[in-house]
Amino acid sequence: MNKCRLCHEEKKLEESHIVPKFLGKWLRKNSATGYLRSNEAPNMRRQDLFKIHLLCKACEDLISDDESYFANTIFHPYMNRPEASYHFAYDERLIRFCAGLSWRVLVYLTEHLNDEDNIEIQKYKLKLENFLLKKIPNLDQYEQHIIPLELNSQSPLNIKHSNVNSYFFRSVDIDLLDLKDERIIYIKIPNFIIIANINYKYISKMRASRVALKKGIIAPKNYYLPIEMYNYLDDRLTFIKENINDEISDVQTQKILEDIKKDPDRLMKSDTLKAIKADHYSSLSKPSK
Ligand SMILES: [Zn+2]
Repeated sequence: MNKCRLCHEEKKLEESHIVPKFLGKWLRKNSATGYLRSNEAPNMRRQDLFKIHLLCKACEDLISDDESYFANTIFHPYMNRPEASYHFAYDERLIRFCAGLSWRVLVYLTEHLNDEDNIEIQKYKLKLENFLLKKIPNLDQYEQHIIPLELNSQSPLNIKHSNVNSYFFRSVDIDLLDLKDERIIYIKIPNFIIIANINYKYISKMRASRVALKKGIIAPKNYYLPIEMYNYLDDRLTFIKENINDEISDVQTQKILEDIKKDPDRLMKSDTLKAIKADHYSSLSKPSK
């Protein structure tokens, strides 16, 4: 018996996924090899994404209802849309999904990976816990944001980095960004960026991506990325290119090639190949300096 991290009751704890399980499944199903490799340890095959004992069964069920809502109403329809355009109406379950995810990510990063703590982080966690348990009706300044990402979009990041499509389309990445004592939680899942505000001064500029409390629409909009976020992504893409892609050892490369040889059709149909093709194409169209 342990204390559930959400309701704080002494109960048997379930193994919780920090990043929703359906995303791990989706990545495996659409990958060239059928396995996942994480950004932190590319030489390790990972069946699932960051699992820890965190919640009791009742709290886990509460959170997985919101995850199913996001998976069925936004994520899968967005990934399977027949044309580039999209228009999805959502209800109050979307902000609950984002809140549940950003809360879990923050707990994981600050209590399981690093012992980072301060009054702002504590206030965020407490507010989100009460919101998720339906004790309070809103989140005040702790806004949740979602930005849909489009393959081959014409952003300066696409022009500068050859790995941007692989990163946006295929990877999962989480971080607590500290921008001179102002903090936001950054969550990259395939094709979406989710941002949660702790105490960032310019969050009000990001109106287009703000998730409404009751209902709203996910559609193409002028999504605004603050310069600090843009610089962060710029550094992150450079770091991944220099450190992570090259870190996959020869043995691992051999294993990946063997998996592909065993089932070449899988590679041809996979999203890994689509993302590599898109990256290759955008790197060809890069302006020469
Ligand atoms: Zn609980």
